[in-house]
Amino acid sequence: MRRLVPFVLVPILLVPAAPVAAHKAPNGPTATGYGGAVASVDPTATAVGLQVLRDGGNAVDAAVAVAATLGVTEPFSAGIGGGGFFVYYDAKSGRVSTLDGRETAPQSMTSTAFVNPATGQPYAFQEARVSGLSAGVPGTLATWDTALQRWGTRSLSRSLRPAADVARRGFTVDATFNQQVTDNQAAFAQFSSTSALFLPGGAAPAVGSTLRNPDLAATYDLVARRGIGAFYGGEVGRDIVTTVQQPPRAASPALPWQYEIRPGGMTIADLRAYEVRRPAPTHVRYRGYDVYGMATPSSGGSTVGEALNILERSDLSALGRTQALHRYLEASALAFADRNRYVGDYTARRVLDELLTDGFAAERACQIDPAHALAKPVLPGVPDGQYTGCATATGGAAPDLGQSTTNLTVADKWGNVVEYTLTIEQIGGNGIVVPGRGFLLNNELTDFNFTPTQGTAEDPNLPGPGKRPRSSMAPTIVLQHGRPFLALGSPGGSTIITTVLQILVNRLDLGMTLPQALAAPRATQRNTAAVTAEPSFVASPEGTALAGLGHTYTPMAEIGAATAIEFLGHGKLLACAEPVRRGSGSAGTVR
Ligand code: GLU
Repeated sequence: MRRLVPFVLVPILLVPAAPVAAHKAPNGPTATGYGGAVASVDPTATAVGLQVLRDGGNAVDAAVAVAATLGVTEPFSAGIGGGGFFVYYDAKSGRVSTLDGRETAPQSMTSTAFVNPATGQPYAFQEARVSGLSAGVPGTLATWDTALQRWGTRSLSRSLRPAADVARRGFTVDATFNQQVTDNQAAFAQFSSTSALFLPGGAAPAVGSTLRNPDLAATYDLVARRGIGAFYGGEVGRDIVTTVQQPPRAASPALPWQYEIRPGGMTIADLRAYEVRRPAPTHVRYRGYDVYGMATPSSGGSTVGEALNILERSDLSALGRTQALHRYLEASALAFADRNRYVGDYTARRVLDELLTDGFAAERACQIDPAHALAKPVLPGVPDGQYTGCATATGGAAPDLGQSTTNLTVADKWGNVVEYTLTIEQIGGNGIVVPGRGFLLNNELTDFNFTPTQGTAEDPNLPGPGKRPRSSMAPTIVLQHGRPFLALGSPGGSTIITTVLQILVNRLDLGMTLPQALAAPRATQRNTAAVTAEPSFVASPEGTALAGLGHTYTPMAEIGAATAIEFLGHGKLLACAEPVRRGSGSAGTVR
């Protein structure tokens, strides 16, 4: 996150200017008020969104402007080189809709694309990641365009303007930005375009320095003038294809890289064929609330939903924190086993819906032993409509990881709500800036499983032509009596699912306020031998008690970087971002 970013909204200037002084204090992580709200990881982006709302834009207009700004200030987590999932509550109709802007594999992709033909072994993760091979056809610009056309009140061109202005004028580099470059220095150094933008003078931009991205400003301006066709088939698209097919390698990289840099097979036809999908949201009832999430290719909605259904079999609020968290961990593991077995881009909707039935949840919940943690990995269940016992399937399971991505939450004065998670997959994506265009490409295709993970059963997440890799992104909108109660989401790879789930349990079952629910120590059980947990969770009294039940821990410094808005009634909004994680986020209300 950028902190203390000097910024005001001004018309586009044609010459680069120094960043201007803030006209008001940056927003902190929590805000209560009226007239609309924005929560994101970044104060500049939140300020842009609030200004759009003040100027009469709606939640969709603001969300696109926030996302475009994050593409500038959070270029390693988001941007037009990536994809994401957009969930929208429309106040007029009372309906929740979703947009699937996930990156898509090119037609040339095969099921063994991530297996080295020379050795028959899957590529090392970094070898697969830092390549043209890992880049999917980006969906982000098409998502913005579709969202604005369906529900917005402003043009894409107008919505890109504040972000283009930030890119042109520059923003102040903070410690998180500096660290993210430092962590990627060797990968970035391999590419002339990436080094030129993010390694000025051969090192990460200094904390406190101003970073300008005139190429990205020009790309936004070009799309503003010509529409997204400039990207999906036009000159930007051609540059993407060239970058993927012939990664722009530095002549003599300042740092070594131990892997071969492999080209990808994306073509201009793949870009032209890109489509935003509009799947029906997933839906479960949980303790009287209606919880809406993202359907395939994300596993976010179905996995959060299944775990909630399992948890609803017991009254968590009456059990005490340790038992509630025990069940949270076990429900997560069970739901992840099912996700890994059944959920991928081509999962039939009836299978996804079956995973979300109460009958299936009952069959899964009955496996939880209050006195002992289950041995992990647990086996997947059998969502066959016949639920009489504690049936399990056979075969293995595989977790996956990631830490990039960003999330934003917006509400407007009319009651519309946007929950939007967008990503370029790893922090720094595939490491390759499209030369002259100012944005990084994604490595989203490494979200496919490189080799089959389900034993003799079919793996739903192997690569394929035109296929979208399974995601864990879980933008979630919760309604109460048909009106928004809570909207939330987070980055964090597969920990996204448990972060969203844990915040819901904290807020709905454990009596925490929303800021407490976000701040609470996190733990994630994705059907692995040990629970991955923040040190503060491990050290808590519940952490100790859970160890007594047989849970073991792998510590992780930070899990997730959530944003959320709670609707307090009578138009009052509580907007929340992280108080500490990822350098803290930024929430604000219009009034
Ligand atoms: N690529 C991941 C997914 O779609 C998100 C990456 C992350 O949040 O770190 O699930």
